[in-house]
Amino acid sequence: MQLLQFQNEFPFVVNALLSAKRAGRLSHSFIVHSDDSTLSADFAISLAQAVSCPEPFDSGDACGECQVCRQLENRTYSELFALAPVSKSRQIVIGKDSDEPDTMRWFQSQFHLKSVSGGGMKIGIVYDADCMNQEAQNCFLKTLEEPPPSSLLILLTPNPFTLLPTIRSRCQNILLLRNKSVYDAEKMKDVLPVLHMLSFGKADISVAETCASELICISGKLHDIAEEKIAGKWKKFLGDTKNLESAGQKLIEKRFDAAVASEYLGMRNSFLSMIHAWFAHVHMLSQGIPLDSLANPELVSGFKIKPEDIDPKKAYRSLRLSENLLQVLQWSVNGDLALREFCLNVALGSKK
Ligand SMILES: [Zn+2]
Repeated sequence: MQLLQFQNEFPFVVNALLSAKRAGRLSHSFIVHSDDSTLSADFAISLAQAVSCPEPFDSGDACGECQVCRQLENRTYSELFALAPVSKSRQIVIGKDSDEPDTMRWFQSQFHLKSVSGGGMKIGIVYDADCMNQEAQNCFLKTLEEPPPSSLLILLTPNPFTLLPTIRSRCQNILLLRNKSVYDAEKMKDVLPVLHMLSFGKADISVAETCASELICISGKLHDIAEEKIAGKWKKFLGDTKNLESAGQKLIEKRFDAAVASEYLGMRNSFLSMIHAWFAHVHMLSQGIPLDSLANPELVSGFKIKPEDIDPKKAYRSLRLSENLLQVLQWSVNGDLALREFCLNVALGSKK
């Protein structure tokens, strides 16, 4: 499968990768952040093909026909090394030594071994990279810092936030959210009308400002909602801690905070992915894809959108902006500013 096959769904990602490839400034290490493990695994192979194919198209994409492309496709390429969690604990551990299979040390020794075929690209893929424990992640950093020549490292994960910041900062992030997720109906009721207004409302600043304020307000409440939800679940448990000595109580409090943080993260991801999914769906409608073929038709079905009423250029541009927003918000501290800029750009049709 070539990268071009993902273009309809993730135009921004694919175009950015191919243009970097053509310019010779493609990164050597990537994190593929996706909620669909089959999708991210297929995408990783396509990326590996684009990087390794000896006879690529002018677009930068792999030919898909040559021996390297075919071997990567059926995973028989001799320079392809994979690491995935296999133990019961679902952890990727560092391992005793390089002879212990499916451990970080084993993976690294293979990856750094002088290539037998000579000259070909080395491809390392870590599946469920968030399953690397701390020790394995620290060890992996060495490979990221000093990769073998002509190599490509790809980490696949639904949750990049569990990776060390030092790992994340050394990899380029690729965001492929397919939004198979089931959306909270309550939240859809709040968010979707705002997105509809943004897509189909008047192109002026007051519309953009109204939408931005609404989205910022919804996003701002998420942490409180997460805390309330966890507190409700932990009620009895938290009551019991009053009888514990202070060290025990501290531990419980710490776990409570961690549970709230994880709940909040999930809610925020779902909120952001809903924004992205909306624009992806509107874009697909503009391309003539029927409503019932969409992943989450319930997102758009309530608005009776006629495909001929959609400006396909605006839909495409908005989808790109929403992909960009998700990328920015993953690392950004000032999410409000990013949301406001996003709303302005979508409503006013900035070419950015
Ligand atoms: Zn090829």
